[in-house]
Amino acid sequence: MDELLLIPGPTQVPPQVREATARQMINHRGPRFTALYQEVQQDLRPLFGSGGEDILIFPSSGTGVMESAVANLFSPGDRVLATVMGEFGERFAAIAEAYGLQVDRLRVPAGAALTAEEIAGHLDREGPGRYRGVLVTHNETSTGVLLDLPAVARAVKERGLLLAVDAVSSVGGVEVRCADWGVDVLVTASQKALMTPPGLGLVYVAPAAWEAVERARLPRYYWDYRRARQAQAKGQTPYTPAVSLWYGLRAALAALHREGLAQVFLRHRRMAGAFRAGARALGLELLADDEVASPLVTAVRAPAGRDAGEIIRALREDEGVVVAGGQGELKGRIFRVAHMGAATPEQMVRALAALGRVLRRLGLADDPEAGAEAARRVLEEAAVSGR
Ligand code: PMP
Repeated sequence: MDELLLIPGPTQVPPQVREATARQMINHRGPRFTALYQEVQQDLRPLFGSGGEDILIFPSSGTGVMESAVANLFSPGDRVLATVMGEFGERFAAIAEAYGLQVDRLRVPAGAALTAEEIAGHLDREGPGRYRGVLVTHNETSTGVLLDLPAVARAVKERGLLLAVDAVSSVGGVEVRCADWGVDVLVTASQKALMTPPGLGLVYVAPAAWEAVERARLPRYYWDYRRARQAQAKGQTPYTPAVSLWYGLRAALAALHREGLAQVFLRHRRMAGAFRAGARALGLELLADDEVASPLVTAVRAPAGRDAGEIIRALREDEGVVVAGGQGELKGRIFRVAHMGAATPEQMVRALAALGRVLRRLGLADDPEAGAEAARRVLEEAAVSGR
């Protein structure tokens, strides 16, 4: 039985991307790499909504480029507001603390989203001059919540603060328009909606943010955006690039553009809608309300008195469906199913059929087919309405 991988990264890697990563090495200081560099940049810009700027690409996981954002924007003693909707918001805060910044946290309970009004209200209560910047998570993968980034960006920029965005699990699956929204730095990674193996960290730096990068006094070397920018002028990276992953990313980007970005984003919304309807039809509760639900990952509550680990294990061992557990205090209380990257609506139906059988065997569902059926209905209605 083929394993169906539905964790929120690494996600499934399509065959042509896997094949592309197996190519022979090339001289990373020669014309062939520069050609690869330019193709990748051209295809990346629309995914970030870059106004024409190149994206900095480091061999790194997502956490590394989150760290790079902190190191490049701030100076010792700066105070930042970390908005925390879950584990990854907390991670951004912890990185800033590790660099010696003063960090205030603005939190919401798991499954809720912070609103632009709440963030603006907090900033205004604290008054001008307290903060140098704001750290946000676009798609909080630990709870399955999407931030209203355009509204939040507006609130932060109206107050003259720097905005750093963890978009590790959103770029490629949901619209991102850095230049229009006024984001200063936005980071992502290769292994999620970009359906490439783990190992590339990608960074958008706004033209207006370079002044802050020049002024910043935190220590940095490998992560120094100025060195990366100098190399970019030659179509290169400052240090040896992960060439194989660049080949893979080029193939993945080609696939995304072949499908069309509007269609890719629609597919993600449909997968989320179908999965959420199916899970509810099986009698399960979702952690996030529909208004704030992520199109990329859904967190499902374990039935009362049960450990989510039981369901996760049965899905893997009996059904070959691999989903993720909760992190931190949500461990055992939720399981998370990604509908991200190369995942398909049909896979959501398959996962829900498997989930129905697992719940029945655990004595937790009367009608094991109800989930897959509900999902199929939602997908049929979407096909008719075009939404
Ligand atoms: N931020 C978010 C929103 C994420 O989903 C993840 C990965 N799950 C990370 C940061 C960390 O990325 P990595 O594991 O690649 O360091």
